[in-house]
Amino acid sequence: MVDDNIPIPKPIKAKNAVGLDMGIENFIITSDGVLYPNQKHFIKSQKRLKRLQRRLSKKQKGSKNREKAKLKVQKLHTKVSNQRRDYLHKISDEITNQYDIICVETLNVKGMIRNRHLSKSIADVAWSEFIRQLEYKTKWRGKTLLKIDKWFPSSQICSNCGANSGKKPLHIRKWTCKECGTTHQRDINASINIRNYGLGQIDNRNTAGTVGIQACGVPSDGVTTSYGVVASYGSVKQEAQSSLAIG
Ligand SMILES: [Zn+2]
Repeated sequence: MVDDNIPIPKPIKAKNAVGLDMGIENFIITSDGVLYPNQKHFIKSQKRLKRLQRRLSKKQKGSKNREKAKLKVQKLHTKVSNQRRDYLHKISDEITNQYDIICVETLNVKGMIRNRHLSKSIADVAWSEFIRQLEYKTKWRGKTLLKIDKWFPSSQICSNCGANSGKKPLHIRKWTCKECGTTHQRDINASINIRNYGLGQIDNRNTAGTVGIQACGVPSDGVTTSYGVVASYGSVKQEAQSSLAIG
């Protein structure tokens, strides 16, 4: 039973809310246009770790060489996880200090890094560790973490008018909404949708144009970051070279 007479409430502009999306070039993209890059040196040492582990598995059991190889693996393993944790702590500190409401997707199921299994598993581990940090830091600081449905099509919806233009191939980094003409940077648009969805400002039952989602805060005034890069919406430099504008 749906009562058609109930008006859809106007969305409130929540200044202190942020949506976070996980990307390819950047580990995290915020709805305010802050990009936290993937750390290349970390990926490198992760690959080295895999190599060392393979080498270890070939060594004869009980041999001195095996012990040596084992030690090497353990050392690098510790180094890699410390590096990662340290970087994630910096980001989660910055975000939980700056925002009152933080919206995230619980799992990255977009298959973004599909063809590179190693990178994908690294990204997944990092993402769950990052969410774990957000969980306790938001509690500490009296903030709110909103975890949203992983099936929500955050990359398909126009964050300006709510039109769903369907799936887009991964190489499409920039696109223009056919309904309202807004040009979106893929990941930033997704993180805005994640924020709006978390705040209950997206209603999938409605068709294009009937939901007044505000394209607010991109980039927000007063956004500061020590560990990320502030992108200007629609002209993200890092993405510009590989981007393919449509429409
Ligand atoms: Zn639109």
